[in-house]
Amino acid sequence: MECTRCGRNASIEINYSKDLLCNRCFLELFEKRVRKSIRANRLLNPRDKTAVALSGGKDSAVVLSILKELHKRAPRAGLLAISIDQGVDVCGRTLDASRKICERLGVEHHVFTFREEFGLTLDELVKKTRGIENAAPVCSYCGVLRRRLLNDKARKLGVSKIATGHNLDDEIQTSMMNFIRGELDRMARMGPIVGVVRDAGFIPRIKPLRDSPEDEVLLYARLKGLEFEPSKCPYSQDALRKTIRSAIDLIEEKHPGSKFQMLKSTDRLIPIIRSSMEAGEIRKCSICGEVTSGRLCRVCQIKKELGIY
Ligand SMILES: [Zn+2]
Ligand SMILES: [Zn+2]
Repeated sequence: MECTRCGRNASIEINYSKDLLCNRCFLELFEKRVRKSIRANRLLNPRDKTAVALSGGKDSAVVLSILKELHKRAPRAGLLAISIDQGVDVCGRTLDASRKICERLGVEHHVFTFREEFGLTLDELVKKTRGIENAAPVCSYCGVLRRRLLNDKARKLGVSKIATGHNLDDEIQTSMMNFIRGELDRMARMGPIVGVVRDAGFIPRIKPLRDSPEDEVLLYARLKGLEFEPSKCPYSQDALRKTIRSAIDLIEEKHPGSKFQMLKSTDRLIPIIRSSMEAGEIRKCSICGEVTSGRLCRVCQIKKELGIY
């Protein structure tokens, strides 16, 4: 097999483009697509101070590695990494991986813990949610607290953008979940850059891997020898996402290119849904002062529910 780009020995088959690639051409194409995505969606400007939300998984490791390369050419831009330790077993390993990659790439690394910031670990949070009637899935509690912590700390560090590792598969799974659950307001909040308009205290989040398929992100991380931890959080068990993931993978297998098409369709729907929605009243949370649509923000609601004041 010859690489369709350079003629060297090819080892990678890309179904949707019918390309056969050697390792070098694959890495090049992958990076080119990420750079193009950053440019086309105006994710970064030369003076941004960017924090990568580093989970220890493959996706954020790839984001960090690629942004580090880009920053070598942008002397006025800043780059750092923030990790959140939720205090479950797997976190020890993910933190190790995060520390290693930051050390090797020479990126400043900040770690914050659930225990110090909220006074409990995720394990303890899980126990508390078991006592609540109609409790939301644990991931939604954890996600809300994690995002707030990340935003607060990034703000204190003078960060202007937070980069996350969301890849193509994550995005279209979320899109399909929102569609199935009829949560179109959530669909309206999707996109390559989110959280720009609402409030000066909210740091915009960018997703440089949003058009990179998950299997290619994994391959990229492996070929580059990036440090990452493959195990997932023991509490992550979104049944609907799992079903959708296998359904979408099957569609892609039978009809290569469908994943990209789903993202395109999602991106065409977002502005239509946004324009049809009434702008909700923006208020300040009566406890912490963060922007919210109700009296209490979601974080303060959760703290109250769990009794963690
Ligand atoms: Zn090649
Ligand atoms: Zn609040």
